[in-house]
Amino acid sequence: MGIIQSLQCRECRKEYEPRFRYVCEECFGPLDVIYNFPSNIRKNTFESREKNYWRYFELLPIADKNNIVSLNAGFTPLQQGNRLGIRLGGMKNLFIKNDSVNPTFSFKDRPAGVAVSRAKETKLKAVGCASTGNLASATAAHAAKAALPCYIFAPSDIENIKIAQALSYGAEYVAVDGTYDDANRVASVIGDSKGIGIVNINMRPYYVEGSKTLAYEVAEQLNWHVPDHLIIPVGSGAMLNAICKGFEELHNLGLIDSITNLKITAAQPHGCAPVVDAFKKKSDEVIPVEKPETIAKSLAIGDPGDGLYVLRRLRQYNGIAEEATNNEIIDGILILAKTEGLFTEPAGGVSIAVLQKLVEEGKIDRDETVVCYITGNGLKATEAITSVLPKLSAVKPDVQTVSAMIR
Ligand SMILES: *Cc1c(COP(=O)(O)O)cnc(C)c1O
Ligand SMILES: [Zn+2]
Repeated sequence: MGIIQSLQCRECRKEYEPRFRYVCEECFGPLDVIYNFPSNIRKNTFESREKNYWRYFELLPIADKNNIVSLNAGFTPLQQGNRLGIRLGGMKNLFIKNDSVNPTFSFKDRPAGVAVSRAKETKLKAVGCASTGNLASATAAHAAKAALPCYIFAPSDIENIKIAQALSYGAEYVAVDGTYDDANRVASVIGDSKGIGIVNINMRPYYVEGSKTLAYEVAEQLNWHVPDHLIIPVGSGAMLNAICKGFEELHNLGLIDSITNLKITAAQPHGCAPVVDAFKKKSDEVIPVEKPETIAKSLAIGDPGDGLYVLRRLRQYNGIAEEATNNEIIDGILILAKTEGLFTEPAGGVSIAVLQKLVEEGKIDRDETVVCYITGNGLKATEAITSVLPKLSAVKPDVQTVSAMIR
């Protein structure tokens, strides 16, 4: 079981008891979980365990295994992307981390599952989230399994199917007439005043821990070798930051070699790319995008909570930041589908489009081991691509007519 030593401020390093708290009293910095990891962890510690992310339970912030709320998320396929690699110009060691096959069809089952488990452990009476779409269902599904009420705060204009999915799990859905940042602000105040564990706000220290399993799994699936380069989509930046933390922990535990040569690319959609803009301007200031405009709605966070920390990670890890337009995103979705048989939502299209750009610009070596994170399922956002798909008109079920159509 994960033994939490404290919550520590990412800025001033002040340590706190692991209570219901998420910002530093001194400097308002975010708090991170600090552990006493057991000393007997080896590569083979995990091998024979259940094939979900709770196989790493010693490294996650839940003290008592009975409090784990699991839908068997994680341990998703790391698929060799041979056909995509050829299509992109002869990449030989391309891997796709296919996190679109989680129980609610996005990587958000990782952070939501950990936060809801922690809510159960700390006996909170309700949970919720501010969501760009996918977190809503991930939180609602885990809340259903934990028999906790769940409150979703999300923009009213996200994909209908994501709303339908979240409502099906029994959540209360507050459809905010505004942006994600508006929903986030409301959720933050309501969460604190009503004692609701908002997984990505007042439970954020625990929430972010779930996503570091995206690093653990990739390392284990590569036989504990460190890849050369990671392509990661960025909304709030929590996932990118957590993946870096995950690799650092594995190195500190002696499970992987040095990570100083690891390269990280942050991928954002044009129309909501505040981190990419800051990186390209070599600025330390992430200027919020007031009205995000992109088909990649799950990345439409104008004021990314971890934006500054993504910038720091990029500087630390030979980083690159790049954006993709709506058309490039759609191309990315279709290339991935047609070469690898994987259907992703626009966030995944952003990863592929940015990967393609970097290869074209010679920023990725053809021999590099590249892992591209595909974080959400295409079935959740079909309206993004219908306009470019062939229009069908129904034909009579007559063999001659149909036969004439098939060349
Ligand atoms: C939320 C989300 C992201 C971005 O994660 P952050 O932690 O907000 O950076 C990426 N892809 C998908 C599919 C998402 O739902
Ligand atoms: Zn502080």
